[in-house]
Amino acid sequence: MSVTHAPETDVLRGQDPEMAGILLGERERQASTLQLIAAENFTSPAVLAALGSSLANKYAEGYPGSRHHGGCEIVDVAERTAVERAKSLFAAEHANVQAHSGSSAVLAAYAALLRPGDTVLALGLADGGHLTHGSPANFSGRWFDFVPYGVDGETGLIDHDQVRTLARSRRPKAIVCGSIAYPRHIDYAFFRAVADETGAYLIADAAHPIGLVAGGAAPSPVPYADIVCATTHKVLRGPRGGMLLCGAELAERVDRAVFPFTQGGAQMHTIAAKAVAFGEAAAPAFTVYAHQVVANARVLAAALEAEGLRVTTGGTDTHVVIADPAPLGVDGRTARGLLAAAGMVLDCCALPHVGGADVTAAHARGLRLGTAALTTQGMREAEMARVAALLAGVLRGATDSRRIREEVRELTGAFPPYPA
Ligand SMILES: *Cc1c(COP(=O)(O)O)cnc(C)c1O
Repeated sequence: MSVTHAPETDVLRGQDPEMAGILLGERERQASTLQLIAAENFTSPAVLAALGSSLANKYAEGYPGSRHHGGCEIVDVAERTAVERAKSLFAAEHANVQAHSGSSAVLAAYAALLRPGDTVLALGLADGGHLTHGSPANFSGRWFDFVPYGVDGETGLIDHDQVRTLARSRRPKAIVCGSIAYPRHIDYAFFRAVADETGAYLIADAAHPIGLVAGGAAPSPVPYADIVCATTHKVLRGPRGGMLLCGAELAERVDRAVFPFTQGGAQMHTIAAKAVAFGEAAAPAFTVYAHQVVANARVLAAALEAEGLRVTTGGTDTHVVIADPAPLGVDGRTARGLLAAAGMVLDCCALPHVGGADVTAAHARGLRLGTAALTTQGMREAEMARVAALLAGVLRGATDSRRIREEVRELTGAFPPYPA
């Protein structure tokens, strides 16, 4: 078993061989299996360097120029740099880069615009909404009155008529657009028009597509939404974290909603790593990558369909592919287990209007795949066709899974995520 040399683990190996072994094991797992989880990616060594830097030691409550701690003169420059890069990358008047995660960004957006008990319209969880879009297990469902809209059962596309009708009848304080599993572009102009007509704020939760937006491969929500929430670790390929974008008039409310309302000290090493990622995303190579992510997803979707899986919406505009493996005789949960044993790592997901009253079954019926990580490794259309063939081979039980595991090892070996 070849383990890629990682300098940062040398010091750890000397002091704590047990943890060093765990880190190397995970590195090897990521390098030798196919990372098809739609929300995952491989950050660059430069991003990892910023994450592992001495900025991790610094306490910095507040914002640049007005901190509650001393010694912030250098991390202030790091945060200002991150903010300026984010504003320029997304053509936004204001950016907050302190949100610890995508969920923290959504919490802050609600805190900036809503009061407990307010009505909010969002994509229902069974149709691809995120936990923060009104799950009863989440603060959102507990503290706000969420009204779900859905996707059309036939086409899998957002039911725009339903959105308009519910907005008119329920008069929400905010409308949320964004999903963990929607493979198509969202029509932000439509949502803006409905929000304007009904006097609602528009919150775009662009956690997934924001990286495509950065690379010019998806439409930007920034001109339309009052607040855009995002993650920095999905297609955008930065460190694990969140971000908010908004116009100048909401800047102060958004900043105060992050700190001091919902968070304490900023994670300065993560903010520095976000700046590094924004810098990478502004370079021409990132545009090529973002378009390749979509091209790869289109080929993957078509190839899976050709293998007999049912692809929701008939394809994709993004990095996300949602497929129903039922025609091959397995449900999503079973498929995920079979594929994991063969070295293909992906998620199950809900399929709209499948599963009826049995919510648990409905949540595990489909497969959610993404092409960001494979594209970062350098895989292209030919490899996507091969991945689809391997995947279908496993699900049909036609090919010996040990042989497929070997083929996956061979494929990933040709595209190391961190070449030596
Ligand atoms: C990933 C995601 C989030 C949450 O991000 P975390 O960093 O896991 O908290 C929120 N909303 C949407 C739509 C997402 O896809």
